[in-house]
Amino acid sequence: SAEEVLALRKEFLNPAIFHYYKKPIMVVEGKGQYLFDETGRRYLDGFGGIVTVSVGHCHPQVMAAANGQNERIQHTTTIYLHPNIALYAKELAAKMPGDLKVVYFVNSGSEANDLAMLMARAYTGNYDLIALRNAYHGGSPASMALTSHHTWKFNVPHGFGVQHAQMPDMYRGPFGIDDAEAGRKYAEDVQSLIRFGTSGKVAAFFAESIQGVGGTVVFPEGYLKHAYEHVRAAGGLCVADEVQAGVGRAGTHYWGFETQGGMPEIVTMAKGIGNGCPLAAVVTTPEIAKVLASRIHFNTFGGNPVSCAQGRAVLEVIEREGLQENSLRVGAQLKEGFLKLAEKHDLIGDVRGMGLMLGVELVKDRKTKEPASAECAQVFETCKELGLLIGKGGLNGNVLRIKPPMCLTGEDADFLIGTLDVALGGI
Ligand code: PMP
Repeated sequence: SAEEVLALRKEFLNPAIFHYYKKPIMVVEGKGQYLFDETGRRYLDGFGGIVTVSVGHCHPQVMAAANGQNERIQHTTTIYLHPNIALYAKELAAKMPGDLKVVYFVNSGSEANDLAMLMARAYTGNYDLIALRNAYHGGSPASMALTSHHTWKFNVPHGFGVQHAQMPDMYRGPFGIDDAEAGRKYAEDVQSLIRFGTSGKVAAFFAESIQGVGGTVVFPEGYLKHAYEHVRAAGGLCVADEVQAGVGRAGTHYWGFETQGGMPEIVTMAKGIGNGCPLAAVVTTPEIAKVLASRIHFNTFGGNPVSCAQGRAVLEVIEREGLQENSLRVGAQLKEGFLKLAEKHDLIGDVRGMGLMLGVELVKDRKTKEPASAECAQVFETCKELGLLIGKGGLNGNVLRIKPPMCLTGEDADFLIGTLDVALGGI
């Protein structure tokens, strides 16, 4: 029973491993955009295993690819040749713009960002790194240095030379929400940080293309493009963290950075590319990729045949089922529905996001923007009671995060909006 599992977790798992909900649910099965608990109760999955289940739970083609590979061979490491890693790298490179063609497979987003840090420093010979305030780039010591905000960090010296620039948050930042120049203005903070907070020479600038854990924050138009120009002027590389925003979720484009007109030299990805299996990658140009070949650099599980079989199937399903287009269509329906809810519920301060990466920020007062954290927690619990699972986050825990599998239907979207309406009405 769920109670027994909870008791085992309490006794044998590190207490850092937390669970959602006052009375946690146990999930024993998944199909498409739905999850089922041990009693057979169905929930709409509005969070996709933290933005990871991109094409739906247990997609038949993805399962067939992974299971078929499991039965032949699971693991060899890259010291022997296997077709899957080579073919998957080729297929992934075909999805990338420009000269981003060379892939290094690892197992998690944190590892991918660690590797990108290493590559950028080795290639440029520079030390200083810049990331954004409220960013989340991972929980390993190196990637945690990129991660900002005290709730996600430990008070230990990281020693990784990372400075954090102002977060380009249109809702809470100093420039007006309609300021057409906001992208350029926020990027000026990157420039002054380079001047006054670093040696003047930069190894890399890291940014999520849409800030995920920090509250689904979409940057003002052109922000990344302008920030990238300042970083390049200081000799640095630009790294796009596509762990959440990539593979079609943003709707209008396959990669989040493309929505910003920015062209990074390094792209890190994880979560959605594997649809649930440990799979992550760093993609860069042939020129930059060469830098790691001067030493032995190795990853035991990276690019293993099973993960690559699954990753290949995921790319194919996104294409064949038109899931990027679906993200755009159903995402627009959801956003419109949330905006209508905002007319009715004063608690909604902001509705934002792109495609199926959406956030609804709750505030006690629209003028002061005081975060409605307790209310958000209550809405989140009620949604669960009504059969809808979503995420909750942002710095003050007052942002509802809606990032379902990309196969969400219009009917599911109606259910999601209706459920949220009832939950908000109960406050
Ligand atoms: N980057 C981003 C944008 C993320 O959201 C996360 C995970 N939430 C990571 C990196 C770290 O990924 P992982 O948990 O797979 O190490």
